[in-house]
Amino acid sequence: MSDLSALSSVPPAGVSGLHRDAVLKFFYGPMDCGKSTLALQINYNHRRQGRHGLVMTKHDRSGGPRVTSRIGLGDEAVEVHDAFDFGSLVRRTAPRLDYLICDEVQFYSVEQIEQLADLVDDCDVDVYAFGLASDFRSELFPATRRLFELADEVCRLQVEVLCWCGRPGQLNARTVGGELVRAGEQVVIADTGQAPVRYQVLCRRHYRAGDLGKNAPAL
Ligand SMILES: [Zn+2]
Repeated sequence: MSDLSALSSVPPAGVSGLHRDAVLKFFYGPMDCGKSTLALQINYNHRRQGRHGLVMTKHDRSGGPRVTSRIGLGDEAVEVHDAFDFGSLVRRTAPRLDYLICDEVQFYSVEQIEQLADLVDDCDVDVYAFGLASDFRSELFPATRRLFELADEVCRLQVEVLCWCGRPGQLNARTVGGELVRAGEQVVIADTGQAPVRYQVLCRRHYRAGDLGKNAPAL
C-alpha cells in the first residue's frame, strides 16, 4: 500500500542524474470512488511536465474511446479491444512513450496485464492502472488479480463511496430488474433481455445479506 504519491510532481527524466526505474502502480476501489478522476489528474500532471503519454480504457461509461469521470472531466483515450497489443503500441508511438494511464483495467485480459509489466521492465514506460478489485460476485477480476501479483505499488483509493446505510461501500452488487443477483456473466455493462441491469455499491454486511436498502437509488 502507498499514499497517492502519483499526485506529487514528476521530476523530468535525467534532471537529477539518477536513474529511476519505471513503475507499475495499481489503484483500485469500488465504483464511484474517483478512479477515473484520479487517472485524469495524473495524466494532467505528467503532461504538464512535458512527458508523453496515452490514456487507455475499455468500456468507458461514455461508450466511446474516452475516459470520463462522473464529476464531468474527460480525456480522449485509446480503446483496448480484446486483441490489443501493448508492445506494438509502444513501437508505433512517436517520438516516445513515457507513461500510460490505463482505466477500467479490470476488463483487460491477463495477457495484456503481462504486456504492461513488460513495458515497465523492458521499455521504461510508467504504467498507472485503475480499476475495480472485485466483480458483482465479490470475486477478483482475473486482470485485477494479476495486477495485485505484479504491481510495484498497490493503492486502495481513499475517496469513500458509501453504502445506503452510511458504512464505507466495498462491493459492487448487480441488480437485474431491481433484484440482487449473484450468478451470471462476469462482465455485463448493458441491459440484457427485458430487465434493466444496474450496479450498486454496498458495504460488506449488506452485500452478504443481499439488502439493497429501502428506496436506495441504484446507479
Ligand atoms: Zn450497508
